Amino acid sequence: MSSFLGSVQMNFNKAASFMNVPSGLLEQIRVSNAVYRMNFPVRFGNTYKVIEAYRVQHSHHRLPTKGGIRFSEHVNQNEVEALAALMTYKCAIADVPFGGAKGGVKVNARELTEKQKERVTRRYTMELIKRNFIGPAIDVPAPDYGTGPKEMAWILDTYATFKTGEINAPACVTGKPVNQHGIRGRTEATGRGVFYGIRELLSQKNEVKKAGLDTGIAGKTMVVQGLGNVGSYTAKISTEEGDVKLIAVAEYEGSIYNPKGIDAQALIDYRKENGTILGFPGTKTLPNRDDALFLECDILVPAALEGVIHEGNMKKIKAKIIAEAANGPVTAEADEYLTRKGVIIIPDVYLNAGGVTVSYFEWLKDISHVRFGRLEKRFQEQQAREVVNLIERITGKKIDKRDRQFIAKGADEIDIVRSGLEETMITAFDQIYSIKRKKKNVESLRTAAFINALSKVANDYMSLGIFP
Ligand code: NAD
Repeated sequence: MSSFLGSVQMNFNKAASFMNVPSGLLEQIRVSNAVYRMNFPVRFGNTYKVIEAYRVQHSHHRLPTKGGIRFSEHVNQNEVEALAALMTYKCAIADVPFGGAKGGVKVNARELTEKQKERVTRRYTMELIKRNFIGPAIDVPAPDYGTGPKEMAWILDTYATFKTGEINAPACVTGKPVNQHGIRGRTEATGRGVFYGIRELLSQKNEVKKAGLDTGIAGKTMVVQGLGNVGSYTAKISTEEGDVKLIAVAEYEGSIYNPKGIDAQALIDYRKENGTILGFPGTKTLPNRDDALFLECDILVPAALEGVIHEGNMKKIKAKIIAEAANGPVTAEADEYLTRKGVIIIPDVYLNAGGVTVSYFEWLKDISHVRFGRLEKRFQEQQAREVVNLIERITGKKIDKRDRQFIAKGADEIDIVRSGLEETMITAFDQIYSIKRKKKNVESLRTAAFINALSKVANDYMSLGIFP
């Protein structure tokens, strides 16, 4: 079985075989530009624990570099390098003007107290500062598996403590709480982007017909693995805004199933209260933890970790679409087998780009020091009100109060963020799908997405004059 990095590089090589990029340039795009491996001590009660951690900057072709920080007991250099490389391609696909990076800290976040997590986060940040591996113009972390807004706030606080007077300090990290230089819509962004991506695929008649599906997202059945940040928002937004029927969920503690549909928000609340999804009213617990993955469904959304669909279980998959919300959930071998079988895989490099897209908006907000919508909202409202008044005067008819409120609403930060995210996901899908349709022998959306990414990064290098 290929390693995670091996899988990413196989996908890279496959895309490169359709392109005419000089081999030296391809190698430069493929390799990690800087890898920082560290071990640092953190005091836990009366003892010290030595923690292994990484920060990989995969590509310096654009700066800053950007990518999440993962807290997981499985962290290793191969994994962090693979995730950092995916970030480079993801940024290119979503037209986010950053290079890719990723951080990993080898701890089990579930076993740490709040205080211990804070110590680990602050010490890790100090290590990054020491080596100049963090900064608004250098490298900007964000949340990933096992981390969230709280960790991002600790990172900013530590950074700002050491960088007194740096006016753009809040832009050193994204995914922060809204009241600490964050942006509305960042927490839901990856899941919302996953929803937009699935919806776009399902609007393509020719493509979905091949998998035996009708167009349109409404009424499609969905199974989600991992009810963390990405999985929970994917489930919630797909059911509430897309009328998808969530029939099963797999979590760390097991799989639950209800063919009549599961209320995503009620399940999220239930897990918060009880610490488990098992026993959620109306659902049946399946015998094995991963069983939900093998159910018949229209859309399977792996949203936990990499490598969950592999050579050993790929033959049991009955889903028609696999929507890769997690990074690398399908290994290269399973990808080949399932694609051959006609399963449509919406690739991670595109599908979960919503997080980095809204992180980019947060970074823009932090370096411009102004909330989106602040300058123009009232002006837009005033203008729209004038137009409504004019229409009323000309037609002699009164416009309904609800319609008037809807038309004369200026855009708030959340409206602008969601609109920018939707625009990004639609444009990126169109680019990828157009490559898939036009390039002979490109069979998967993944290869088309990698071709799109490689050509953009290669163009950047060529315009820098490094590779004429
Ligand atoms: P998270 O820590 O918020 O949630 C992950 C969830 O998966 C947890 O609830 C965990 O209990 C569950 N899980 C772990 N192992 C499992 C297993 N074997 N079976 C079922 N469930 C399991 O993490 P997240 O931020 O939602 O990230 C999930 C994936 O999405 C990762 O691959 C990450 O790299 C990717 N991703 C995250 C973001 C982001 O903005 N957070 C952006 C892009 C990609």
